[in-house]
Amino acid sequence: MTSDSILPATTRWYADRTLAARPSEVRKVFRAAQKPGIISFANGAPYLGQLPFAQLAADAARLMETQGTAALQYGASQGIPELRAHIVELMKLEGISAGPEQVIVTNGSQQALDVCARTLVNPGDVIFAEAPSYAGGMAVFTGYEAEIVHVDMDADGLIPEDLERKIAEVKAAGKTAKGLYTIPNFQNPGGVNLSAERRRAVGELCRGQDLLIFEDNPYGLLGFDGRTMPAIQPEFADITLYFGSFSKMIAPGLRLGWVLPPQAMYSVLLNTAETSTLNPSVFSQQLLTAYLDDPAWQETLAKYRGIYEEKFTTLVDALTEAMPEGTSWNRPTGGFYLWVTLPEGVDAEALVHEAIDHGVVYVPGTAFYTDGQGSNEMRLSFCLPPLEDIRKGAALLGTLFREAAAGR
Ligand code: PMP
Repeated sequence: MTSDSILPATTRWYADRTLAARPSEVRKVFRAAQKPGIISFANGAPYLGQLPFAQLAADAARLMETQGTAALQYGASQGIPELRAHIVELMKLEGISAGPEQVIVTNGSQQALDVCARTLVNPGDVIFAEAPSYAGGMAVFTGYEAEIVHVDMDADGLIPEDLERKIAEVKAAGKTAKGLYTIPNFQNPGGVNLSAERRRAVGELCRGQDLLIFEDNPYGLLGFDGRTMPAIQPEFADITLYFGSFSKMIAPGLRLGWVLPPQAMYSVLLNTAETSTLNPSVFSQQLLTAYLDDPAWQETLAKYRGIYEEKFTTLVDALTEAMPEGTSWNRPTGGFYLWVTLPEGVDAEALVHEAIDHGVVYVPGTAFYTDGQGSNEMRLSFCLPPLEDIRKGAALLGTLFREAAAGR
């Protein structure tokens, strides 16, 4: 046990799977970064400043007064029907046609991932994931003792030929290839979109090879231009578990997300969800439903898209000025994240504590791979810091990495 492990020294009470799990790099960074005044590019936390708090407060008061006994009571384990009806409407924007009775509301999509992994993953199963991929998603699968095998990505998302090759290798090794975990829109952390052709190719491949698809989509409505992309789910509904979330497009404090599973799995998954939390908070669901009942929420979301685009442009302009030669990044068209590749030999993981001492923090690339890749990469989240902090933070990173690159 290393000293920065999340586990205390006495481990004899812990389950083997807990001891086997890798402590999260992201959490380590967050802990180290909890200093006042630090500029954080680490958090995938949305900017909430434009929410209509007075309206939400009025809705909350009204709900308490008129429906208090239901709001604070236990509720249906699949969520309240009014919210599921909104979810169905939202999914239509991505070409998904489903009924409210096919949706399970959860405490964020994180819990939905957990419920599905708990229901479907055996120890030793292989889950394929983009290289790099969302640390918290992979941690769910490894928490149930799955092995993550990374699939290479390029500017059009994960590469189907590489997936095919990796599936063959896994099967040749006698392992069970259970599923693909993919974030097709404004990927966390890569900022990349999976192209339409590849969505189809990946779906066909998974169907042909008997793999499930875990389609995780918290950022789909956060394209800077507001355009949405057709989901994988519609053509592959029999093998796809589609995950949605209100965290990034509205507010993570509501803790509300959902899963749309293949119909045949619904009751088994609902049973797991019920075992896990009995039901998602009724009050939270009612408050969100009231918010979604007023179409003005879409204007608020549009405002956010503009705000995120401005933050993104500010970050890229500031980095262009500040970073050493040989640094590169992609140009996401939405979402929260910029994926940065540093000059060869500059170690983002080794330098993160120095960065924190300088007053800025990012997540080292290594956090997003399970196989040790990513030492000269990092994720910068541009969603939360104010523009001035983005400029200052980028300048601080520039100084740090210029020195590091010069001293190589
Ligand atoms: N999936 C992805 C890709 C994410 O980035 C996140 C949050 N960072 C989640 C799932 C979980 O979000 P929540 O539980 O708040 O819905």
